[in-house]
Amino acid sequence: MTALEVQDVDVYYGRVHALRRLSFTVGEGEIVCLLGNNGAGKSTTMNLLSGLVRPKAGSVRWNGTDLATAKPWNIVSSGLIHVPEGRRIFSTMTVHENLLLGGYSVRDKRRIDERIAHVYELMPRLAERRRQQGGTLSGGEQQMVAIGRALIGGPRLLLLDEPSMGLAPLVVKQVMEVVSAVNAQGTTVLLVEQNARAALKIAHRAYVIETGAVTLSGSANELARDPRVVEAYLGA
Ligand code: ATP
Repeated sequence: MTALEVQDVDVYYGRVHALRRLSFTVGEGEIVCLLGNNGAGKSTTMNLLSGLVRPKAGSVRWNGTDLATAKPWNIVSSGLIHVPEGRRIFSTMTVHENLLLGGYSVRDKRRIDERIAHVYELMPRLAERRRQQGGTLSGGEQQMVAIGRALIGGPRLLLLDEPSMGLAPLVVKQVMEVVSAVNAQGTTVLLVEQNARAALKIAHRAYVIETGAVTLSGSANELARDPRVVEAYLGA
């Protein structure tokens, strides 16, 4: 079943035409990846889904909700939770306090405790560092806190903006394993990545975005073998 459907969306920043009739879908239970280089429009797409940028044309539908006009806070409470690029965790707060912040829109406090326990189970390293300040964590650990914080909100669709950015290959692998595990437990994931190699390993389907439009799409396996993807995104 299609959970998210973006159809023929145009976004402008002044005269810059950032998304050009962009169309893609995410099915319930999938990991879908949007691949693209710097400036392709990946962050704009994420911000479109979070209600932070508005389309000039086209439609954005999420389980019957029109995201093109919905208020950002209503979008979050409908279960669409965005882990922004650059992680943005609070450096003077502890791991545990950062996780608690992810529960600001959750009314049932027991649910927050359950979800935090679940995050610690999924990422034992965060449990070990629960009292450590965010700013003293490694990049990979900070990324895990950012993902963990989003999980406390109970996402139905998790939007991950370049989780591999700035991380060493081994750490990228660990972060991708966490994303895969979260998906296996029932959360739909939209992953935006420049790191095609890592993303295609865990994604079910992917779209290649260039200058704001989809230029290629298919199953992750197909795309990983497509000579155009190999040449442009996977290297020799
Ligand atoms: P990156 O990986 O570098 O973040 P991206 O694929 O996420 O790239 P976007 O940040 O979505 O790309 O940018 C898409 C296009 O829109 C680029 O040409 C960019 O310069 C432009 N753009 C993005 N934000 C703004 C803004 N606030 N004002 C003007 N132009 C913008």
